[in-house]
Amino acid sequence: MSLPSIVTPEYRTIIPSTKQEITYRPFLVKQERVLLTAQESDDPKDQILAVAKVLSECITTDDIVVGDLTSFDIEYLFLKLRAKSVGENITVKLGHQSTTEASGTLENKCDYSTEVSINIDDIKPPEVTVDKKIQLTDDIGVVLKFPTFHEMVNTEQEDDASVAQIFDMLTKCVDYVYDKENVYNEFTEDEVKAWIDTLNQSQFEKISAFFTGMPSLKHTVTWKCGGCGEEDSIEIEGLNNFFT
Ligand SMILES: [Zn+2]
Repeated sequence: MSLPSIVTPEYRTIIPSTKQEITYRPFLVKQERVLLTAQESDDPKDQILAVAKVLSECITTDDIVVGDLTSFDIEYLFLKLRAKSVGENITVKLGHQSTTEASGTLENKCDYSTEVSINIDDIKPPEVTVDKKIQLTDDIGVVLKFPTFHEMVNTEQEDDASVAQIFDMLTKCVDYVYDKENVYNEFTEDEVKAWIDTLNQSQFEKISAFFTGMPSLKHTVTWKCGGCGEEDSIEIEGLNNFFT
C-alpha cells in the first residue's frame, strides 16, 4: 500500500526583474538535504547552484527557467522560499560599529555583538532603477539586459573580477544595438567584442554604469546594542550575508 501523500501549500510572489507573479511551494526534506550537502562544500559555486536547483524544484509556475533569471531575482526568491519553508525570521549577530566619530573612521564602539532578528517579509524586492537604453551618439544606441544567473555562474570563477571577465560579461549583456534605420539583434560574441572596442571612453563608461547600478538584495537593519544601549544600523547586502 502506498503511503498517503502530503499536500503542501502554495504561495505567490513576484520576480523582481520582470514583475511576473509566480507560485511556489515550501522546500521539503529532499531539498533541504541538497542545501545542507552544498553547505559542507568549500566551493561557493556549489552553494549557489544548490540554491538554484532548490528554487527550480519549488517554483510551481510553468516555464520558469531559473538559469535565465538574474542573480538578484534568485537571491530574493530564495529568501521568500526560505521564509515559507523554515520561518520568517533570520537571526544575525551584529557588532556595534559606528562612523559617527568626528574623524569619520569606522571603529568598534564596544565589543558587544547583538543578536538581531530580521523578518524576511520586511525585505523589499530589489528595485530596477538603471536605464537599459543607452544613447551613445545622436544616431546610435544600445539596449542592455541584466546578466542571467547562468551567465553569472559561468563567469564568476575567480575571486577578483579581472578586466577580461568584466569585458566578457559586458558582451553577454548587449541585448541589441540600434541606429536610425535598424535594430541589430543578430550578432556573434566576437562581433559584439569588436564593436565595444570601437567605443570611446565616455561611451564605455555609460555602459559600465549599468553594471554598477545593477539591483541587489539589500536591507537596512536598525537595532539597539545589547552592550551599551546605543542604536546602530547597517545595510546587509547579498544572500550570503543574511545567513552568516
Ligand atoms: Zn554597543
